[in-house]
Amino acid sequence: MISKEPILSGYTYIRPLGSGGFTDVYLYQQFNPVRDVAVKVLKAELNGIERQLFITESNIMAACGMHPNVLNVYETGLSQDGRLFIAMEKADRTADEYLSGNKIDITTYLDTAVKIANALEFVNEKGYLHRDIKPENILIDAFNTPKMADFGVSCELAKVQQSPVSLSWGWASPEIMELGSHGSIQSDIYSFGISFYSILTGANPFVQIANSKMDKISNSAGVTETALKGKYREIMSKTVSHWEYQPLATNGTPRQIDQILSQALSFDPKKRQNSFLEISQQFTTVQQQLGLTPTAISLGGVNSFNSASESVFAPSKNNVSNNEINQMFNASTVQTGTQRRTVSRTNLQTAKNSTKQKKSLFSKLFK
Ligand code: ATP
Ligand code: MG
Repeated sequence: MISKEPILSGYTYIRPLGSGGFTDVYLYQQFNPVRDVAVKVLKAELNGIERQLFITESNIMAACGMHPNVLNVYETGLSQDGRLFIAMEKADRTADEYLSGNKIDITTYLDTAVKIANALEFVNEKGYLHRDIKPENILIDAFNTPKMADFGVSCELAKVQQSPVSLSWGWASPEIMELGSHGSIQSDIYSFGISFYSILTGANPFVQIANSKMDKISNSAGVTETALKGKYREIMSKTVSHWEYQPLATNGTPRQIDQILSQALSFDPKKRQNSFLEISQQFTTVQQQLGLTPTAISLGGVNSFNSASESVFAPSKNNVSNNEINQMFNASTVQTGTQRRTVSRTNLQTAKNSTKQKKSLFSKLFK
């Protein structure tokens, strides 16, 4: 439940915008300059490690916010009653709308996928890991621009093992759920994969399966809440580890999208894409193949669209056959990604499964 809005010097409260596991988000009007801003406020009862995480969140947002597809932070501060807040750019809605009935057209879908992959590549290039990718955390502004938001559990790539992880059920990778991994670029690629799969189908397949199994259990008398939480964790882990990719091409989705998403959703992290840049390039290749304008791969300063175009867009320039396009598509690897895979493999191998870490792992359950 959303708490009462705090008094903030320099801002007037307008209305609530949303709420998450640790925070409440409200619309305020700033006085200087006069503008509407979204203000994310740490819940009053959270006074321990969450404060440090919240400060880290604002710093990572500030470091990455110059990217056109990362939500920009304006200011941080303390409310009159001592709650930390982050004032930031206001969005209109979230990509969760595609899980609540709204359908997405393929042009918008591909453009959104490239832009969010660009944003996450930028975050990784800056040395950070998002660790909570899901449709609810992809915001969309008044110009329909998607923006990666909610860096609440993000951390430095180099410090991933020391950073407590907290997972969102249905969106976390199997290695985070089962092996005690604290996350890696490949775990984020998995979460991206299941997010963009669910955006097309209109529902998260794991949540659907797990919830239907839970319904039967929770209907039986005398089951405690603790037992239910444990059961949900067990059912969700089993669901994710036994799930077989269900192709979307049978419903008319271009089959290349299945290739990208099924690779991102590989159970084995080593089989996933090497980097978000590789995902951006795969999606822009699909745009090209469908005769759509490819979305620029913007990484701030370095415009990879141009360098990628030599190989990825060669077909239109050099008259390469469809077969060759597919080969390039499947074999597309970039150097930065290869380097980065080494980092994430190391992270995975050194993942420790301590009891403390496990506790925080499930702290978001039933929030
Ligand atoms: P989580 O449960 O994912 O950890 P959280 O506590 O970290 O959530 P956010 O995801 O950042 O919080 O925000 C919660 C919700 O508030 C979002 O899903 C969204 O609906 C709304 N919201 C957040 N930031 C904005 C914004 N800048 N503009 C408009 N709405 C926002
Ligand atoms: Mg969120």
